[in-house]
Amino acid sequence: MRIITILLIIFFASPSLSFSQTDFNRYFEDASLRLDFAFTGNKDRQEASMIELKKEPFWGGTKKNLIDKFGYGTYLITVTDSKTKDTIYTSGFCSLFEEWRTTAEAKTMTKTFYQSVTFPFPKNDVDVEIKAREWDGSFTPLLTTTVSPDSYTIIRDKPAKASVTKVIDNGSSDKNVDIVFIAEGYTKDEQEKFIADIKRLTNYMFSFAPYDNYKNKFNIWAVKAISDESGCDDPRKDIWVNTAVNSSFNTFNSDRYLTSVDVRTIRDYAANAPYDQIYVLVNTGKYGGGGIFNHFSLTSVDNDYSKQVFIHEFGHAFAGLADEYYYENDSTYENFFNKKIEPWQPNITTLVHFDKKWESMLDDGTPVPTPPTDTLNIGVYEGAGYSAKGIYRPALDCRMKTNTAKGFCPACRKAIADMIEFLSE
Ligand SMILES: [Zn+2]
Repeated sequence: MRIITILLIIFFASPSLSFSQTDFNRYFEDASLRLDFAFTGNKDRQEASMIELKKEPFWGGTKKNLIDKFGYGTYLITVTDSKTKDTIYTSGFCSLFEEWRTTAEAKTMTKTFYQSVTFPFPKNDVDVEIKAREWDGSFTPLLTTTVSPDSYTIIRDKPAKASVTKVIDNGSSDKNVDIVFIAEGYTKDEQEKFIADIKRLTNYMFSFAPYDNYKNKFNIWAVKAISDESGCDDPRKDIWVNTAVNSSFNTFNSDRYLTSVDVRTIRDYAANAPYDQIYVLVNTGKYGGGGIFNHFSLTSVDNDYSKQVFIHEFGHAFAGLADEYYYENDSTYENFFNKKIEPWQPNITTLVHFDKKWESMLDDGTPVPTPPTDTLNIGVYEGAGYSAKGIYRPALDCRMKTNTAKGFCPACRKAIADMIEFLSE
């Protein structure tokens, strides 16, 4: 009887194992479907509406782990086979739009932001749903659509014209993390500098834990987008240059916040290579950058701190890491995180569900919270996520806190390593 019970448990338990993964070849072909849509809204409301579908020549992501296991991101895309109703792909992502919604401007006006998500190109009809995480942590549906892979409404244009080089080659894209770098503000004559900048910045990244242990798990691609002019828009200095992906400083009136709203052009260039992550290198010496989870990263290349900014921003975009810095007296971002729930980011906690964070990494007897006078390798220090109170970080210093930190704290290192392994398994 006992044996039968055990067998029954195994029989009934296995189909419902969480994160049971998808058979890639049954559902997908080796290409991407890109879904472009518009976020529209303000502080109080948001909606999403379809713009266009595009077939792109490569799928650079994992073919094994097509169901997300991390639960990161403000938004979630779910792809379901229309006939079998099997969930065959999920992934989380963030947007510039959600950040704008926390600004003062969003209290007084409504804006639209372009957004793009990719998933492997389906063989059969699929239902696609995009959901948004609300303030209380629950998800609400924003957009649903059915895609027929043979439909002539899917745009099949070639990617934006640019020459492509594989700078670091460790083999197939599904078994590696592929970063596609896009040249921004590099003229035709500056493309050699672009490649040298990629090598300089990635060499620095691979000298740091945990990247130093995973050097052979990355492919690096360079898309040599040619800009008419060198540099980058700098509105506060009245500098305007015509560049490939229209990047600019002073996003949301923050001088150092370097981003681009030209998502469509960035994706059109990125489509020249298989990729897990998009990194736009901006050919200027002014300090700045930006990184958004599963969207893209930007950094300027010629500032004294460009190397540090480079891996800080990638921490946001690649591993969903939060900023560990905070402001003593600034309430600008005071309502960025709901302190009544546990944030999804792996390197900050409100202590609401600390067991889901780095609690198991603490030494026995570590005080929670940890007084700032205790200089532990890993603890629970108050002040993180822009807030001096009620949000906690894993270490006194970390690359997600300052440019002078020696490296990433243990919780960030683990989050990065987990993501590399998930994508390269
Ligand atoms: Zn950290």
